[in-house]
Amino acid sequence: MTLKILIVEDEPAIAELIAINLTHAGFEVERAFQADQAVLMMKDTLPQLLILDWMLPGKSGVQFAKELRSNPKTNALPILMLTAKGEEADKVTGLDSGADDYVTKPFSPKELIARVNAILRRQLPSTEDTPLAVGPLKLDPVAHRLMAVWPNSAPKSIALGPTEFRLLQFLMSNPERVHSRAVLLDRVWGNEVYIEERTVDVHIKRLRAALAPWSCDNLIETVRGSGYRVTKNPVQN
Ligand code: CA
Repeated sequence: MTLKILIVEDEPAIAELIAINLTHAGFEVERAFQADQAVLMMKDTLPQLLILDWMLPGKSGVQFAKELRSNPKTNALPILMLTAKGEEADKVTGLDSGADDYVTKPFSPKELIARVNAILRRQLPSTEDTPLAVGPLKLDPVAHRLMAVWPNSAPKSIALGPTEFRLLQFLMSNPERVHSRAVLLDRVWGNEVYIEERTVDVHIKRLRAALAPWSCDNLIETVRGSGYRVTKNPVQN
């Protein structure tokens, strides 16, 4: 499932910067320039998250956040507030208005994506115990077991290191979808934010090496310029 994020920001350059980075991280993005427009866009379907600028023409972001929180239809909608203000008092006002988190301009796109992912992780139901299957791979998180099950042969148990297991579990829980290295770092490594992105490549390589004896390594695909994905229909090579 692609997660949809609505950006409410009147400054086109900032809205564009955010949209590009979110799209690159695998999100579907919609944009509104002020609150009234956002209300219309959310009439039929809600996004999974709202990125809301504090200073908007017409209704302010703070006022809009308060209204969304007091409406039963939108009171659970996660809100990430954006602002040029950096004062501690403003931060409190922003959070009091109902925002889930707060990013001060100028912000790094990487930080913004990390905040978005952190909010979404808190919101989404935990799927950590759900058994997963993609093609011949069957992963059981509770038993911490990975099996390769090919037709007409006995199931094979595949040994993986803990990081490779978590990495594969995340990829298999979102099959066919491309994940950037930044997203994988956030979802698999979590709070250890100072790990370099090439760490992901190292663990992908180990993961493929562990899967290779069971002819499952090509299920982990490199998508050039974007990242990695697990697919049940790998390109034959
Ligand atoms: Ca603004």
